[in-house]
Amino acid sequence: MSTVDYPDHLACVLFCQGCPWRCHYCHNPHLWAPDASPLYPWEAIESFLLKRQGLLDAVVFSGGEATLQHGLAEAMFRVKALGYHIGLHTAGIRPSALARALELVDWVGFDIKALPESCATITGISNSGSVNWRSLEILLSRGIAYECRTTVLWNLFDLEHLRQLVHKLHAYGVQCYAIQIARPQGMKKSDRHHLGTPATSAMDDLWIECRSLIPDFKVRLS
Ligand code: SF4
Repeated sequence: MSTVDYPDHLACVLFCQGCPWRCHYCHNPHLWAPDASPLYPWEAIESFLLKRQGLLDAVVFSGGEATLQHGLAEAMFRVKALGYHIGLHTAGIRPSALARALELVDWVGFDIKALPESCATITGISNSGSVNWRSLEILLSRGIAYECRTTVLWNLFDLEHLRQLVHKLHAYGVQCYAIQIARPQGMKKSDRHHLGTPATSAMDDLWIECRSLIPDFKVRLS
C-alpha cells in the first residue's frame, strides 16, 4: 500500500522489469534487466487485487519502464475492469506505447529528464532527449491528469540548466511540476559522487521563479 505514488489515492504499485536507460540516480537498477526477478504470475496479481477491492483505490504501473511491456494495455484494461484507477510512472521511453496506454490511464507521473540536448548526460542514451520530449507532447495533448517531475543530481544539473528547463516546460504549458532532489538511497554506489550540493541562496531564488511560472510547483526529496 502506498500513499505517495498516486495523488490523494491509496494505491499499490506494480514494478515492471526492464529499462534500457541508465539514469545515474535510478533507485531501481535491479529492475534494468528484462528478466529481473522476483516475477509474479499475473493470476497472483489479479487475485491480490480482487481481495483489495474497496480497500485500495488505484494501481500504479511503474518500473523500470512500464511502457516496454507488450502486455501493458491489456493488464491495465483488466485492472480497470476491477474498479481501480490506473496510474502510470514513465519516462515515455516508447512514445507509441505511451500513446496506447494513455487510453486507459487516469493519472501519469512523467519523468522529464532534462533539456532535450542534455538528457543523454542523465540517461546515458543518445536519443533519449527527443524521445522524452516527444512523449511529453503526447501526454500534454491528451488532457489526462499528470505530474511532471525532474530528479536532480547537482553535479550533473546546475541551477541555470534547471532554470532553462522550467522555462521550457512553462512554454509547453506544463501546469504541475515537481523538482525532486536525488537521495543516495537505492542509487548505485558508483553514482553517488554525482549528488553534489547547490548554492542555497540561488536555489531559493530559482524556486520563487518556478512558482511564478508553474501554478502547481513543488520541491521534494525523491
Ligand atoms: S528511466 Fe527510470 S527506471 Fe530507467 S534508468 Fe532512468 S530512473 Fe531508472
